[in-house]
Amino acid sequence: MTTPLTGGCLCGAIRYTVSVPITELRACHCTHCQKGSGTGGSVNAVIPSAAFKITQGTPKRYATTADSGRTLYRDFCGDCGSPIYSQRATVPETLVLRAGSLDSPGEMRITANIWTRSARPWSTIDPATTQSPGQPEAPAAKK
Ligand SMILES: [Zn+2]
Ligand SMILES: [Zn+2]
Repeated sequence: MTTPLTGGCLCGAIRYTVSVPITELRACHCTHCQKGSGTGGSVNAVIPSAAFKITQGTPKRYATTADSGRTLYRDFCGDCGSPIYSQRATVPETLVLRAGSLDSPGEMRITANIWTRSARPWSTIDPATTQSPGQPEAPAAKK
């Protein structure tokens, strides 16, 4: 995989680069990711914020109290509505990037599922992955 990785929103107003390789993804089945995506949840790469750079546009930010009780920012394109990333208010050094906003799938695969207790019955969870019924310990960004 060659870095930087590139990605952006559906309409192209927001573009970004990621300077670290991404291989492992985490699927979140919390009710907020369900509402925010209109699907079964979100699939994310947990990366250091320093590795992420917006190269075009400015995402719109929505602050909410997550299922975990923490304040979570959800950054998305204000024009087309594509979710780009989320970030905990207390952990600005880590960014949770929506994997589907990346231009290329690379060699990424889902290795963990979180908030499985609120997973929709029609969501598929690979039993070979790590599973947490709620929020796992602090998201560990790959350095
Ligand atoms: Zn857009
Ligand atoms: Zn979630």
